[in-house]
Amino acid sequence: MAGKSASLHIVWFRDDLRLSDHPALHAASQSGAPVICLYVLDDTSNAQLRPLGGAARWWLAQSLRALQADLNALGSRLVLRRGPAAKVIAALARETGAAAVFWNEIAQAPHLAAAERVAASLQAIGVAAQSFPGDLLAAPPSIRTKDGRGLRVFTPFWRRVQASGDPPKPLPAPAKLGRAPDVATDRLETWRLEPSQPDWAGGLRETWEPGERSAQARLNAFLETGVSGYSVQRDRPDRDGTSGLSPHLRFGEISPRQVWHAARFAAAARPALAGDIDKFLSEVGWREFCRHLLFDVSDLADRNLQPSFDAFAWRRDDKALAAWQRGQTGYPVVDAGMRQLWHTGTMHNRVRMVVASFLVKHLLIDWREGEKWFWNTLVDADAGSNPANWQWVAGSGADAAPYFRVFNPILQGEKFDPDGAYVRRWVPELGQLPTGLIHQPWSASPLELKAAGVELGTTYPQPIVDHRRGRERALEAYAKTRNG
Ligand code: FAD
Repeated sequence: MAGKSASLHIVWFRDDLRLSDHPALHAASQSGAPVICLYVLDDTSNAQLRPLGGAARWWLAQSLRALQADLNALGSRLVLRRGPAAKVIAALARETGAAAVFWNEIAQAPHLAAAERVAASLQAIGVAAQSFPGDLLAAPPSIRTKDGRGLRVFTPFWRRVQASGDPPKPLPAPAKLGRAPDVATDRLETWRLEPSQPDWAGGLRETWEPGERSAQARLNAFLETGVSGYSVQRDRPDRDGTSGLSPHLRFGEISPRQVWHAARFAAAARPALAGDIDKFLSEVGWREFCRHLLFDVSDLADRNLQPSFDAFAWRRDDKALAAWQRGQTGYPVVDAGMRQLWHTGTMHNRVRMVVASFLVKHLLIDWREGEKWFWNTLVDADAGSNPANWQWVAGSGADAAPYFRVFNPILQGEKFDPDGAYVRRWVPELGQLPTGLIHQPWSASPLELKAAGVELGTTYPQPIVDHRRGRERALEAYAKTRNG
């Protein structure tokens, strides 16, 4: 064990895999002391923390590599260790004689509990611990009703966040980091975060470039060109009309306050874009809203926010669930979305709403089944946004969609994918159908189907549920919950 080095600091990285606007790293670097940058894969000791799904594990591996490269460029490196965070961090502090450990807070119950255990283990060996806020625009305890409860309706919530003024200005990345002693590190490959047999991540690699540089480049490109027309384009899955920042935000490769300030700066420089930029920031506000909900309701992925839903008569239908998961429902826009998800680890927001509504309303399958599938397949799978949005669609959540809103997958397709380009891309077996039929191939005549090379029930499924029948069944079931 090394003697206590009054000056050595450890920075514990978690969902903040970046160098800029990283308050803990900034504070450590300002001290001028040598800094050990540490990431701990703690997949055993924190039973409340939901294990990452497959797509998110892939992202994490790439993001750690990117952080490693950025630290190397500063003459530093990322130390990787695996095990219970409290034990691993205290052991490293002992081994190196560190004087202090710094980290950024994550305002989620399992992360707060983990940080408390780390702080206690450090206190026991006389090592200082300090944490810094920064994962959200506003700390959850600061946005409350008069009687101290979290807000359950988005608009007043977002008004309150905006009224609390600009969040602190982002901090710069350290220009250099004090050289730390060499300590043992795991090899990332041994963590087996990436799939190998089979390697299903080809589509993810084609689609994404994880890491802070790529996050910054995406934000800049979006604010320069993409944001113009965002308020309308954001609903079009056939266009590249949104920022694509969600997985970068999820892993903290960019902070929400960096997004906030860059967007405000762009709006000031180009006032004509102010409306689109406000809309974009309000979407970032939804992320914030979901995280605040999660802060109050740590079992958001398991429990209906509205208890009246506890008695809801969900159907168990494994065949229909599997057809939904594989993009074989017979509804082109639903199938396109589910296949986009499987291939790329993401799905357009409009289509997420349509496929979620289809599962919980047309198929009457419990929203938790859909939430779990998304958790495993989304690169941006987020402990707040995923369950909160599922509950929103199901009607069991906060500020939820009205129960009688049953998205019509045909009309949604025709409205938001008017040329059928999104369906043609993800459901190529329908590619030759005329645009007027592409969202409802069952309406095509035998001749039209033949000309397009489509054989319903063979090359592409018949609808697994009739739209009108599914809608009526959903309304009946929902009416019982409402009246029950
Ligand atoms: P942009 O339109 O560019 O929006 C900017 C940012 O705002 C996003 O990066 C995201 O961080 C945030 N945002 C946008 N819409 C929402 C929203 N409805 N709720 C919360 N935050 C939002 N988003 C996730 O980040 N993780 C999830 O696990 C997730 N699961 C979802 C499940 C369902 C059923 C639905 C309907 C939506 C879900 N969303 C989730 C929200 C949304 O679909 C994605 O955030 C969005 O598609 C990401 O694309 P973008 O970064 O280009 O978004």
